[in-house]
Amino acid sequence: MSASCYLCGGTSTTARKGAVRDDPSLAILECTACGLVALSSREHISDDHYANSGMHTAVATTMEEWLRTCEDDDQRRFAMLAPALTNSRVLDFGCGAGGFLRKARTVAAEAVGVELERRVREHWAQQIRIHASLAEAGGGYDLITAFHVIEHLPDPRSILQDLAACLAPGGRLILEVPSSQDALLTLYDNEAFQHFTYWSQHLYLFNPETLRQLATQAGVRVIAIQQLQRYSLANHCYWLSKGRPGGHKRWAFLDTPELTRAYAAALAAVGHCDTIIAHVEAS
Ligand SMILES: [Zn+2]
Repeated sequence: MSASCYLCGGTSTTARKGAVRDDPSLAILECTACGLVALSSREHISDDHYANSGMHTAVATTMEEWLRTCEDDDQRRFAMLAPALTNSRVLDFGCGAGGFLRKARTVAAEAVGVELERRVREHWAQQIRIHASLAEAGGGYDLITAFHVIEHLPDPRSILQDLAACLAPGGRLILEVPSSQDALLTLYDNEAFQHFTYWSQHLYLFNPETLRQLATQAGVRVIAIQQLQRYSLANHCYWLSKGRPGGHKRWAFLDTPELTRAYAAALAAVGHCDTIIAHVEAS
């Protein structure tokens, strides 16, 4: 069905349960040797796919709506990285709507983005420098971030090499990706979620080991890989009970700060958070 594993070259895979929500003809394959999860084909991602807002379904959301839906993630990332952002030259690769950059530039010496999607560059034209390609962004960055980007790329290894080359000496690269070990997928084995979360745009799903291996192959050094839970206990209970998203809104009473923290810590302890974050340096 598919050629050898992108990461280890292995040829043996198992098909994961579930389906790709927007293209059921694609299979979700897990390499039996290294554990990399990859779609059975990457040919549906053309070179100009993202430039033309191809990531969004039929009707693309407005910029304002897009920014609003990203606000919680933007704020969390800004809070996590604020010390590293302060007085630094920062590049957000695949900056999406630009909400993180909007915050970063309040403390950074310089905050620029790279985004293929044309309307983002037009939206921020007078306020934030956003380039259409990494080559245009130049180098010497103290901090480069890529939030939920590399899983979209057919050749993430070569992009990691390119990103590392844009770092200043001692600079750091932060990679945030969805985890292939999301509790709803591989711990609770939730059938509804297995038919909901896989997406034709996510060509690969990583776990800490495969993300580490990718970094090693790209010649960069992993300082740490952390588990992060984006969705809450209420969201998970709702999936398990109703088989639908939206529990974090409908059953918000469950999401007290104490429960949220404790649940995320419990999932992190067994490696089943929905997100992983790698802190990387050029070697
Ligand atoms: Zn493999």
